[in-house]
Amino acid sequence: MKPKFGIRKKFLIIFAGIFLSVLSLSAIILHTFSSVNKHEERRGFSYSQIEISEKILTLGNTLIVGFGDVLHGGIEDKEEIIETHNETLEMIEKYKSVISSEQTYVQEDEEEEDEEEEDEEEELDEINHVLSVYMSHYTKLKSILSSRNSAIEKKTEFRNYKETIFEDSWPILIRQMIEGELAEVRLVDRKIKAEFAFIELLAWVSIAITLLIFSLAYRWILTGVTEPIEEFISATNKIAKDQYDFELKNSQNDEIGNLSSAINHMAQELKNSKKNLLQSKEFAEKANQAKSEFMARMSHELRTPMNAILGFTQLMQLDPKNELNKSQKKNLETILSAGNHLLILINEVLDISAIESGNLGISIETIDIIPIVDDVISISKTMANKNGISLECQTILEGSCFAEVDPLRFKQVVLNLVSNAIKYNKPNGSIVVSYEKQNNGMMRLGIKDTGHGIPENKKELVFQPFERVDIESEFIEGTGIGLTISQQLIQLMKGEIGFESTFGEGSFFYVDVPMSTNIPIPDNTEEISSLVPPANANAKTILYVEDIPGNVALVKQIFNQRRPNLILISAPNAIEGIEIAQTQIPDLILMDIHLPEMDGIEAFKKLQEIEKVKNIPVFALTAGAMDSDIKRAMKLGFKDYITKPIDVPKFLTAIDKIWE
Ligand code: ADP
Repeated sequence: MKPKFGIRKKFLIIFAGIFLSVLSLSAIILHTFSSVNKHEERRGFSYSQIEISEKILTLGNTLIVGFGDVLHGGIEDKEEIIETHNETLEMIEKYKSVISSEQTYVQEDEEEEDEEEEDEEEELDEINHVLSVYMSHYTKLKSILSSRNSAIEKKTEFRNYKETIFEDSWPILIRQMIEGELAEVRLVDRKIKAEFAFIELLAWVSIAITLLIFSLAYRWILTGVTEPIEEFISATNKIAKDQYDFELKNSQNDEIGNLSSAINHMAQELKNSKKNLLQSKEFAEKANQAKSEFMARMSHELRTPMNAILGFTQLMQLDPKNELNKSQKKNLETILSAGNHLLILINEVLDISAIESGNLGISIETIDIIPIVDDVISISKTMANKNGISLECQTILEGSCFAEVDPLRFKQVVLNLVSNAIKYNKPNGSIVVSYEKQNNGMMRLGIKDTGHGIPENKKELVFQPFERVDIESEFIEGTGIGLTISQQLIQLMKGEIGFESTFGEGSFFYVDVPMSTNIPIPDNTEEISSLVPPANANAKTILYVEDIPGNVALVKQIFNQRRPNLILISAPNAIEGIEIAQTQIPDLILMDIHLPEMDGIEAFKKLQEIEKVKNIPVFALTAGAMDSDIKRAMKLGFKDYITKPIDVPKFLTAIDKIWE
């Protein structure tokens, strides 16, 4: 809303006030100075009038005295009299011109002008009168002087006439004129003084008005602008700190008042949206929590039967006592392959849900990635050979390549890329795995295939979840989430994943991971062949706390077949497990986590409190495969965390390590 009396108008009024006061003051000062000037001119005229009047008087007297002298002396001084007379006339003329010129120089207002004219006429009348009186005296004196009377008669006549002259009023008139002019001078002086006093007063008044305007403007700027701005700053600081409980005063009916209302409104809106946001966040967190719990539960539920399926299949394949015929072996292979595929699927779904909920944790280590890649290549060779695809790996000059990665997750990514290169290849195609150092401290692991390639218009979909872009996708095993997971994992490792592909010719997928300069001391422990029992194996007792009898039966059979020296005892729940542990003191405890009444974590804590069993190593053996669960258990003190379905060789290796 546009304010009626806004800051712009207020500033305009202040500036207009100052401008007008300066303007009027200067006009008055100029006017006063010009009027003082005129007064001074008039004073000058008066002084010159006085001077001329005095001179006329002196000349008149000189003339009379001159005539007297002539009468007493001789005729030779006559010329001087005439000269003085002429001078007198000249003076009178000058006086007249001074009076008339006064009118031209000193122009007042009309009324004063009229007055001035009247004065001038009076003065001229007076001077004409003086002139005529003087001329008559002069003529008379001249006639006395030039008459044919005797000298004595002339003297008498002159003496008599002299008295008449002095009785006459013209010298008095001149004196009066001088007095009049002096009065005029005094009046002018008074006027000039008054003008200056007026200017002084005006200066004080204007200083007072300007001070008043300035103090009002200062007060307004302070209370109307500066203080509100300080309040705005403190309000925005509060908003930045998520504090919205303030109310700015908005008494002003201008832009500042409007801004105050806007900030109050904004704070209120922010407060409300923050509240809504918190509610939504809480809701989302709860939903996320519920989803994670559901996923963990589902994963557990799916892995439990898979444990039996894959475990017993492996056992049947590995059993040396009961040799299988060809078709049985083929059937078992199919079960194992389908089971493994299902397991990959379960793991991928679990991973994607962990990514979505932000729960996917990774643990970065400095590790040589070459053995990991080699491992993936040897695992994948069988599958590649089946399709007649050659799988080669270029050697790296240094022989090792240390990088900052999570080894397990890195292996998962490489496995995904190599198995894609096999799956989406053409029959008898080829795959080349290469290493290439980048300038930015990264190592590029590349997987180049001669497969179908990816069409240009589908390239942006490749990393999207559940998007399958290959022309033959429907005939090829897959879910479309492997690359989504790989991308997330590589980003968590501060690396990059990408590809180049030409449709119909093949693709080049690559992973850039940060190389490491901190090379760890190599661990020389050799891999133990898990399937062969250690030669000096002593009899050991292992307690398995597990509520599902099928799982117990599987572990029992694994030990019977592969580690006959291991004696398995079991407990169907945690309470019985703790009791058996105390009475039998086993060498190792295998603890399921999802148990009725008391879970495996709780049971582990209880065991830690019992002196005689607290040093027995405990393995978690569970279908719960969430990263967070694994980390929590390892932090508590479990010796190992083995996920179901059991990978028999890995399981045996982990157990063998305990007795080393
Ligand atoms: P999946 O292989 O399970 O479908 P991925 O996420 O690993 O899922 O791959 C997504 C899609 O990207 C695949 O379905 C396939 O269409 C395409 N793709 C991945 N790798 C290649 C490759 N090397 N050559 C051609 N297409 C590929």
